[in-house]
Amino acid sequence: MLDFLVVGAGPSGSYVSALLAHMGFSVMIVDPKDEIGIPNHCSGLVDRRVVDIVGEDLVIDRPSSATVFTPSGSLTLKSERMYVLDRISLDRKLAEKAQSEGATLQKRTKLIALKQERGVVVSQIKKGSSIESIESRYVIGADGPTSLVRRLLGFPRPKVLRSIQYDVRKKSHSVAIHLDRRVLKDFFAWEIPHDEETEIGASGQGSLEMISLLAQNEEIVRKRGGVIPVGDVAPGLGNCFLVGDAAGMNKATTGGGLYGSLVSGNALATAIAKEGDAREYGKLLLKGFGREIKRSIIIRNVLDFAEKYYGLWIPMARRNVRGINMVGDVDYPSKAFLYLIANAPLSFPLALSDIVKNFSP
Ligand SMILES: Cc1cc2nc3c(=O)[nH]c(=O)nc-3n(C[C@H](O)[C@H](O)[C@H](O)COP(=O)(O)OP(=O)(O)OC[C@H]3O[C@@H](n4cnc5c(N)ncnc54)[C@H](O)[C@@H]3O)c2cc1C
Repeated sequence: MLDFLVVGAGPSGSYVSALLAHMGFSVMIVDPKDEIGIPNHCSGLVDRRVVDIVGEDLVIDRPSSATVFTPSGSLTLKSERMYVLDRISLDRKLAEKAQSEGATLQKRTKLIALKQERGVVVSQIKKGSSIESIESRYVIGADGPTSLVRRLLGFPRPKVLRSIQYDVRKKSHSVAIHLDRRVLKDFFAWEIPHDEETEIGASGQGSLEMISLLAQNEEIVRKRGGVIPVGDVAPGLGNCFLVGDAAGMNKATTGGGLYGSLVSGNALATAIAKEGDAREYGKLLLKGFGREIKRSIIIRNVLDFAEKYYGLWIPMARRNVRGINMVGDVDYPSKAFLYLIANAPLSFPLALSDIVKNFSP
């Protein structure tokens, strides 16, 4: 009997497969794709931590700052830890690594059902028109934002935000974030440098209108789209585990999920190495990066409310820009948020005086 059936050959599935195969377990990955990594929906913006895990060879850009644009002004933050990865090559590299460690990969194959009975998981997989039953000790759901495994285990479906991205022929050096509730509700729009191109993307209600405004004078090279899940952490149930977007390891603040994909795989492999089985996984996940995910949901709710008051929080953030640059972290946005809150008693009156000084009727 197979030790692990891994559902999905995205970053989370391939990464955890490589770790488990390296530990000597038999691992089979299934994915409906023809070609791993394609289609790509991701912007590939990560912190140095991810580069340290996946390798420098995947880096295609290094923006040095991020500017937040709002109807009431902008704020520029500096960072030396932002990297843009070639996401297609990332998926391929991790899938190759998993196979070189001994995992097998079945492409054009998808999971359609599973049931757990007396320590065995029986999964139905479909390849073309043929359906096969596979018995394994464990199943890992790494099947992304609309995970079937998550649904079959009975966890609530995350809210999904549809995104649109246009790659345009423009070289840029900085990340731009656009927050404008007059056009775009729920989330934000972004511009991310990708070597000779720039990815312009938007997620939430009004995406098409927003992206049309941002890309109106640009030469569009290709159009893409994807979904960002915003839901709570779900480690799994019984002998079935969830990793990456399927486990809700995507930050509600930024939509970034690559780091969460890798840390959840790492937590699962650590639990198995330590305990001999995966019962500790949930605890490890919730004690570790899962905490940041939970915080990101709270921050998202606060931001949704506070974004109506751009006029106040942009001057407040400007008053704290040095501190935010020091604590700011793409993987842990709560650090900058908590810094801003902690300094609010001092910066709030200063921001009010800035507003009064700059007010022109
Ligand atoms: C527009 C957009 C921009 C983003 N930008 C960033 C960013 O800049 N930085 C960042 O860190 N994150 C970003 N993300 C998030 C990031 O892409 C995800 O967190 C990451 O892809 C999660 O990896 P995963 O392996 O869990 O899931 P996925 O990458 O979605 O992989 C899931 C795999 O499962 C397969 N699958 C699905 N159903 C089945 C099934 N029934 N059977 C078998 N296989 C199945 C799919 O074919 C797929 O290959 C972005 C997401 C979107 C939508």
